[in-house]
Amino acid sequence: MTIPMDLAAPDASIVIVGAGLAGVRVAESLRDNGFEGRVLLLSDEPHEPYDRPPLSKDVLLDPEREHTISLATATDLAARGIELRLGAQVVQIDRAAKSVTLVSGEALPYTRLILATGSRARRFALAPEPHDAVHYMRTLDDARRLRSWLDGKATLAVVGGGVIGLEAASVASRLGKAVTVIEAGQRVMARSVAPVVSRILEQMHVAAGVKFRFGATISEIRSAGDTLEIELGDGRAVQADALLIGIGASPNIEIAEAAGLKTEQGGIVTDAYGRTSDPAIFAAGEVALYAGASGLERQETWAHAEAHGSFVGRAVLGDDRLYDVMPTYWSDQYDTSLQVAGRPVGEEDVLRGDPASGRFIVFHLVGGAIVGVSSAGMPREMRQAKALISARKCVAPVLLADPAFDLKSA
Ligand SMILES: Cc1cc2nc3c(=O)[nH]c(=O)nc-3n(C[C@H](O)[C@H](O)[C@H](O)COP(=O)(O)OP(=O)(O)OC[C@H]3O[C@@H](n4cnc5c(N)ncnc54)[C@H](O)[C@@H]3O)c2cc1C
Repeated sequence: MTIPMDLAAPDASIVIVGAGLAGVRVAESLRDNGFEGRVLLLSDEPHEPYDRPPLSKDVLLDPEREHTISLATATDLAARGIELRLGAQVVQIDRAAKSVTLVSGEALPYTRLILATGSRARRFALAPEPHDAVHYMRTLDDARRLRSWLDGKATLAVVGGGVIGLEAASVASRLGKAVTVIEAGQRVMARSVAPVVSRILEQMHVAAGVKFRFGATISEIRSAGDTLEIELGDGRAVQADALLIGIGASPNIEIAEAAGLKTEQGGIVTDAYGRTSDPAIFAAGEVALYAGASGLERQETWAHAEAHGSFVGRAVLGDDRLYDVMPTYWSDQYDTSLQVAGRPVGEEDVLRGDPASGRFIVFHLVGGAIVGVSSAGMPREMRQAKALISARKCVAPVLLADPAFDLKSA
């Protein structure tokens, strides 16, 4: 790998906007791969870089867990020559001058700019705002706010039966709250799991006392004293002391758009190496809509932010290997850690194991080949299934469903 000449110059400077997982991994990767110039990591948050997945899980359950979520301290980063600036929101990119402007008015020049701005929680227009009882879940401050608001409260309503809504529902239910999930579709996590897995998850929540309102539209949310009254389209109403809106995330693309960079489908468009429509600017992590094997792709997972951040760091320095990482994610609900790899839904989805025991694996097949797998409590089978996905193996469904059939033999 030959580092581009302008990046080998003594005054070269790489500015990274966003100090989430992807931004931190870009910075580390630049150092790991021999960049010796200035690395500036800018965050609009007041906290040192932290991991988001625990926010809707352990951190919501127990404030002590906040101590376990650090991604890197300012001291760790400084030791590697990475300058972390907190509360440093970038409000403008000047592509002609190759500089970014902070909200304070300060301008910072760059040789390369990396946009790792991630996403924010999508707002729900009907939710009264600001309102103490209305919550979102994207940042450490969001998790702290919901945790302290739930203290001493009896009921939580969740709008959206997606990953974050269900994880928060499982924590709240563990804390003894009565939880109702309001979902517009007919099943939970419809975007990210197969119907058979939706049913398994739903049953787990129902067993814990969570109530579901499927196919529900919300016509109005009223403040009624200390509680909220959520009126549904069918005339029924849900009363709640707290309301969590979990209806997805909106990528932070505004500064890229304003600078005239190409954006599409809500993401910043890049080539296979993370380079945007301006060759001096790259995008990494959740905000990037990158050229993948099957067209433009954007992923909202921890594993992608981690791998893509490291990848873009290398690509900026001239590494021409392609990004080739199998999509994976997990979700923790109650005592179940659901692991998903590859495509989460097939033309046919084959179940092995007993979901009631917490140990199951679902193979997702397209044209007979295994393209994805969803599993809990079966790490060995999960590992073997991932190898079968990589090999695009066809295995008869009847064998996949049979616990006696050794996947290794396939
Ligand atoms: C509550 C929660 C639970 C999750 N659980 C899981 C899970 O169980 N499994 C899984 O696989 N994935 C999970 N994820 C998804 C995963 O955490 C994200 O995909 C990943 O964090 C994305 O990383 P990122 O660095 O691309 O973006 P982000 O983490 O969003 O970081 C972007 C950073 O950039 C900052 N920023 C934005 N604009 C600017 C600007 N103009 N100037 C300066 N800074 C800016 C943002 O404030 C933010 O700090 C979860 C996400 C959340 C929110």
